[in-house]
Amino acid sequence: IIKFDNVVKRFGELTVLDKLNFEVNRGEKVSIIGPSGSGKSTVLRILMTLESINGGVVTVAGEPLWHERGPDGSLVPASEAHLRKMRAQLGMVFQQFNLFPHMTVLRNITEAPTKVLGLSKKDAKDRAEELLELVGLADQAQKYPHQLSGGQQQRVGIARALAMRPNVLLFDEPTSALDPELVGEVLNVIGKLAEEHDLTILLVTHEMRFAREISDRVCFFDQGRIREEGAPEDLFTDPNEERTREFLKAVL
Ligand code: ATP
Ligand code: MG
Repeated sequence: IIKFDNVVKRFGELTVLDKLNFEVNRGEKVSIIGPSGSGKSTVLRILMTLESINGGVVTVAGEPLWHERGPDGSLVPASEAHLRKMRAQLGMVFQQFNLFPHMTVLRNITEAPTKVLGLSKKDAKDRAEELLELVGLADQAQKYPHQLSGGQQQRVGIARALAMRPNVLLFDEPTSALDPELVGEVLNVIGKLAEEHDLTILLVTHEMRFAREISDRVCFFDQGRIREEGAPEDLFTDPNEERTREFLKAVL
């Protein structure tokens, strides 16, 4: 459902993604691990169309993301309308929650479905209530973000992403801004989502135990490339690459 084909991303002189080849299949749960600055967040930001690319092709559900087919079939840079359409297939949960501070929990979740998907207020509210139930916050709908704990805010962030019915859910270190005692409740919710077979999950995380539990596949990023990837039981217990071994020794 996601494919990076020789993708290059530069910030000025710095090459962050260096001809990255990377694929995620529909329904697959994939974790990305790797050192700081290795390009993990950049991959997610490119998918959310928050960063453009300098080379290669990104494909989502069989269609190029940053390009469109021109009249003669060749790839031309994507229009704003194309980017918007493609972006709607993906939902993202950020490290810093990114909730709208001046809106209630309910409004945070119904805002995009009414504005972007054109859902009626009633339908958006029903859907939001279902999702709040799912993340264990059914009784918090009328609160404002600052009245919630970090763990609760992040669960609202997850409900908000799901409200757009994305095919793919992206998580960028969803627990790293949380106090340790609040990490579990957020991981529980993500774990529950991971059991849904049609939802594709791409998760950047420092929680190695969790990555191991929920992933079908783990990718170790290093210097803008995938250095090693495999089933969690192989990659975590018996990595092939010395670089992976060093990284795991430092974080486990
Ligand atoms: P971390 O584990 O610290 O979150 P990461 O693997 O997510 O790291 P990225 O955020 O993808 O790393 O960043 C990769 C590199 O690109 C870093 O060196 C970072 O400083 C640089 N970078 C990211 N965004 C920008 C930007 N907007 N302008 C300039 N450089 C950037
Ligand atoms: Mg990052």
